[in-house]
Amino acid sequence: MVRYKGVTKSFGDLQVLKGIDLEMQPGEKVAVIGPSGSGKTTMGRMLMTLEEPTEGTIEVDGELLWHMQEKGRLVRANEKHLHRMRCSVGMVFQHFNLFPHMSVLRNVTEAPRKVLGLSKEEAEERAVSMLGKVGLDDKLKMYPANLSGGQKQRVAIARALVMRPKVMVFDEVTSALDPELVGEVLEVIREIAEEGDMAMMLITHEMDFAKEIADRVIFGADGLIVEQGTPEEIFDNPRSERLQNFLQRFR
Ligand code: ATP
Repeated sequence: MVRYKGVTKSFGDLQVLKGIDLEMQPGEKVAVIGPSGSGKTTMGRMLMTLEEPTEGTIEVDGELLWHMQEKGRLVRANEKHLHRMRCSVGMVFQHFNLFPHMSVLRNVTEAPRKVLGLSKEEAEERAVSMLGKVGLDDKLKMYPANLSGGQKQRVAIARALVMRPKVMVFDEVTSALDPELVGEVLEVIREIAEEGDMAMMLITHEMDFAKEIADRVIFGADGLIVEQGTPEEIFDNPRSERLQNFLQRFR
């Protein structure tokens, strides 16, 4: 359902991704691990249409993100197409990116109302149910500034989930949290993963979590996928020296 084909990405002279081929099946949980600066976030941002590939294509559910069919020809995607494609992907960021001037409830209802065109009542019903799922239905009227980091991140997760995406990108969602708050966020992600039907790309430095949650682990370095396999293959029997050295740091 997600397919990266020959994807490269350069920022000026810096080639961050050098040819990524990756497929994700519906419901599949893929963890992406690798050294800092290896292009993991860029991969996720591309799926969310926040970055455009320099070369190659990305497909979600058989449709290209940056191109569309028009009169039998492939043309550059217009805003409407991008907008529609963007709705099938949700992303949660390291630094939450909540709207600071909006209450918790409004943070979660804003996109369903503006993007999906739901009524206030419909959006609120969905939002309250999603906030219940992340354990925050008692904080509807609070503002982000008055929440802990773990609570902010759980609001961000509810905000993404409320759009009912087909695939979710979690980009190092615990990296900015105090250690004692990491567990509550991982627990929420674990519960979502167990529900099963949504594909998930988990960009993470939490190796134990990747091992537990992922169906498949991708190890990226220097802009390429160096190794991929089941958690057992990657963590217990790494083949490449590059991955062996990387994993040493977490032992
Ligand atoms: P980390 O684990 O530290 O988050 P990462 O593997 O997620 O790293 P990316 O954030 O994808 O790596 O960044 C890869 C490289 O691309 C880095 O050198 C980064 O500085 C660079 N980069 C990312 N976004 C931009 C941008 N918009 N403009 C210029 N350079 C960028």
